[in-house]
Amino acid sequence: TSFAKSTLKKIKGGAQKAVHRSLDQHVKLAVTGLSGSGKTAFITALVKHLTSQANEKNLPFFDVMQQQRHIATRIVPQEALTIPTFDYPKALSALLPTEGQPRWPSSTERINTLRLAIKYRSDSGLRGHFSPQSTLYLDIIDYPGEWLLDLPMLQQSYRQWSEQQYTLLQQPPRVEKSQAFLTALAALDLHAPVDESALSGIATQYQALLVGLKKDTKLAMLQPGRMLMPGELQGAPLLLFFPVAGYTEEAIAGSNLAHLQKRFDAYVKEVVKPFYSQHFRHFDRQIVLVDVLSALNEGPETLQEQGDVIKQLLAHFNYGETGFLKRLFKPNIDKLLFAANKSDHISGVHHKDLALLLDSLVHEQSNHLKFDGVKIETMAMSSITATMPKQVTEQGKTLNCIYGLPLLESQWLTYLPPQPPMRMLNKDEWPSHGFEFLSFSPMPSPDKQLKHIRLDHVMQYLLGDKLT
Ligand code: GDP
Repeated sequence: TSFAKSTLKKIKGGAQKAVHRSLDQHVKLAVTGLSGSGKTAFITALVKHLTSQANEKNLPFFDVMQQQRHIATRIVPQEALTIPTFDYPKALSALLPTEGQPRWPSSTERINTLRLAIKYRSDSGLRGHFSPQSTLYLDIIDYPGEWLLDLPMLQQSYRQWSEQQYTLLQQPPRVEKSQAFLTALAALDLHAPVDESALSGIATQYQALLVGLKKDTKLAMLQPGRMLMPGELQGAPLLLFFPVAGYTEEAIAGSNLAHLQKRFDAYVKEVVKPFYSQHFRHFDRQIVLVDVLSALNEGPETLQEQGDVIKQLLAHFNYGETGFLKRLFKPNIDKLLFAANKSDHISGVHHKDLALLLDSLVHEQSNHLKFDGVKIETMAMSSITATMPKQVTEQGKTLNCIYGLPLLESQWLTYLPPQPPMRMLNKDEWPSHGFEFLSFSPMPSPDKQLKHIRLDHVMQYLLGDKLT
């Protein structure tokens, strides 16, 4: 019988291993948002809280922590060998330096990734019975939200795209900045034999225009997206195109117009499409970081465009009549989260308003879209808290202020941030002084801990069901 027992043990052991192996799960979590929305800070915070601040006090609304089932999380080698690794050590040492002032890490301008192995105890059922431990392999993929704004180009010809963009450039607030480009464009004969240097000169001007619009107005609907952050594509012919005034004639082979068309087609085929087929199609979960407060700082046009950007992102999940995306690929994403980031820039009593504003932006845009099997949620959060709440009494009134070191300043400041509106405002409703939300430097942390606001809610929504 002792032989039988040990055999049984072996079989059990084997079964346990097999079950264990098959129950290890993989999740690809994509993190996006326009540049400056806080992707780098978010990923750094996510990794830090999972690896070295993983406990129920720090993440009370993340079930696996609250139920004390988390065992350990560590960074493991990634499987995707062609994507650069997210430089977590560098980002962390900017925020928590051994000496000197903490700084925000520099943001990355292209796709990058990091793999975590999250070891945890299952809470019940089969997994709980057979295998006391499971591992969730979490691939975090960080990519510029600007890339998603190219989506409509997949359905457009050069002529259609060109007309649409050219019209935009002639309207405020773009028109004031577009003059140099429009003048250069007017001097180009579309039907003349190709003049490579003229085309690349105007393309460079167009690129400068897009970059300038982004910087000065925070406008978001700027195409082609890669012109804003070209990375290794800088100077490549497929990026050297721009919109032209409406035309009716067919392009003559070898003309300027023919070359522009060819470059546009190449961009769509070689840059836009591969992103969808190689990356986007494989994502399981998506968080979109939205910098609502900066949009409010800029004014009604920028906030409206923020709404347009959201609409564009939602279009990726629209299973309506056109469904052209479905023909191209079927997204795997079953949970989508829009997060209004940097909520530490306002006082705690107004976090709800920020969440409501983002919610109204998302719902206004999603009304006419049909979603199939995709859950959409909105939250207000802060990956890395850079301020402290501070109550100030003035003439018998309590003011909910924040205290922090404004970015690029040397004096700490107690500041009463404005209340964000609870919904989209139009031009007439906009307060005459506008909004002014300050940015802050990260806080020094003697105990090497990062603070967050509602990051645990975000983790629970995105990962909670995978860690049961
Ligand atoms: P990315 O371009 O999307 O990677 O954006 P970053 O993560 O580099 O963030 C851009 C800037 O936003 C940072 O340099 C910070 O100034 C600010 N920021 C990002 N996340 C937070 C946050 O959670 N709280 C605060 N207060 N500021 C943040």
